[in-house]
Amino acid sequence: MHFDLDKLVRDNIRSLVPYSSARSEFGGSARIFLDANENAFGSPLEQDHSRYPDPQQSKLKRLISEMNEVPPSQIFIGNGSDEVIDLLIRVFCSPGVDSILICPPTYGMYAVAAAINDIAVLRAELSNDFELDAESVLGTVQAGTKIIFLCSPNNPTGNLIDRNQIVSILSAFEGIVVVDEAYIHYANARSIVDEIESFPNLVVLQTFSKAWGLAGVRVGLAFANEPIVALLNSIKPPYNVSQTSQEIVAAALMNRETFEQNIRRTIVERTNLASALLDLSFVEKVYESDANFLLIRVDDADRLYRFLLTEKIVVRNRNSIVRCGDCLRITVGNEDENLELLSSLKNYEKSFVLG
Ligand SMILES: *Cc1c(COP(=O)(O)O)cnc(C)c1O
Repeated sequence: MHFDLDKLVRDNIRSLVPYSSARSEFGGSARIFLDANENAFGSPLEQDHSRYPDPQQSKLKRLISEMNEVPPSQIFIGNGSDEVIDLLIRVFCSPGVDSILICPPTYGMYAVAAAINDIAVLRAELSNDFELDAESVLGTVQAGTKIIFLCSPNNPTGNLIDRNQIVSILSAFEGIVVVDEAYIHYANARSIVDEIESFPNLVVLQTFSKAWGLAGVRVGLAFANEPIVALLNSIKPPYNVSQTSQEIVAAALMNRETFEQNIRRTIVERTNLASALLDLSFVEKVYESDANFLLIRVDDADRLYRFLLTEKIVVRNRNSIVRCGDCLRITVGNEDENLELLSSLKNYEKSFVLG
């Protein structure tokens, strides 16, 4: 495989002169900052938020670097990983010309971000049991295919993608391979981050929205080799991660114990919920999950979905998604939430299925 990053990048991005913010031009410690038109009299709040945040998120990168054994130069931080997905498409894909490749059923944002940017979407479907076949993915690639998006553990199916298949794609594809690991912390597998040194085309996405419990804070990550990180930095909005978000994530990273405990609790609940769901007569299949949700196949997904809404319980109806006919995706709740869900499901069984 011959990887030429320069050739992959859009012409206008290759020649871009990035916006240079006041704070990125001056990195030292000054006595008085009069460079950014901030409000010297502060915010109309108890806490002061009048200063622009660190555009490089240096402190946060240092903490993430230590925890993941990846140098700060191989870390990009976005306003959620959804921002990173959009930035990746905009770095590499020319509107109306290039394409991305996805493996449905998978996370919906890849195709939406592509559509917003007028990028075609090629599809190589997963098998019936949601396995990925590298050959079929590589066979679907066309001349203008710049990025392949893989998701492991995959949303909405919950399964890990076989690492050997991912490595086969990384070895053969001359474009960018994004491996979205939003749920990796729940998985019984190690991150593919340790392949970054071997593959210049690998981008690994992670997020603070799931196992870290910080979805409201909007912080996502990409791990990649420095030239790709530099490209993302060159097109990102200068202050894409707020000061508050940077501080909250930094504080959370200091509390690894609770993070790990919550993961263990989720996995216990996932196991219990899966076996309780299997006992219900209308549940045909509970798919193996390495994430914090379960995909289940039922007799009539639309009917069950509507019933749960009348119980004021919202799950994700995936009935209309390819290979997910009559499937619901259910997030693993806490102990009480799962008991309530199961009690509602037993009522459904009594009134609609057996009755
Ligand atoms: C939830 C999720 C994300 C997270 O997106 P954020 O913007 O970081 O909240 C990314 N990818 C997948 C597959 C997800 O399910």
